Amino acid sequence: MAFYEECDYLFKAVLIGDSAVGKSNLISRFCRDEFRLDSKPTIGVEFAYRNVKIGDKLVKAQIWDTAGQERYKAITSSYYRGALGALLVYDITRRVTFSNLKKWLQELRHFGESELVIVLVGNKSDLGHNREVTEEEGQEVAEREGLCFMETSALENLKVEDAFLQMIMQIYEISS
Ligand code: GDP
Ligand code: MG
Repeated sequence: MAFYEECDYLFKAVLIGDSAVGKSNLISRFCRDEFRLDSKPTIGVEFAYRNVKIGDKLVKAQIWDTAGQERYKAITSSYYRGALGALLVYDITRRVTFSNLKKWLQELRHFGESELVIVLVGNKSDLGHNREVTEEEGQEVAEREGLCFMETSALENLKVEDAFLQMIMQIYEISS
């Protein structure tokens, strides 16, 4: 297959946020419609692709995953380089992952491109009974920081598509 010739646009996007918030599962859900109960980073695979049709254009989103470096705060600037979009993910059942958003935003704004599209994602919405962060709190941070916001469940496949497409559409509008 003529990999690069067949798409009209190729974007890089990254996922960022604390360890175990569900970044890898959001990517596998969006790109392959798969979910894993264990939390093993896919060794050797740095990114996944998904094609999206926007009007008569074919957009290929190249979505980068960390290999677990976020655990050691060792994400390098090359991870962010050239990325036009980011999903900033926290876990609605772990308050600390929400408190750390400030730190991730600083890093994104420091290393990211100037026109970076950021979508804030509160993942694991299927675990409402263990919720430590309300949807309103997520919304507030998003409004304050000028981000889009969505609660998702990679497990139940809720709003995952919406979150990625929201980001991809915005990138497309800026870049086309
Ligand atoms: P990462 O470290 O941010 O890449 O997180 P992972 O994708 O590896 O997920 C960490 C753990 O959370 C795994 O045990 C997943 O099965 C689980 N997980 C991920 N997304 C969801 C979700 O939407 N709902 C629930 N209940 N569990 C999830
Ligand atoms: Mg991961």
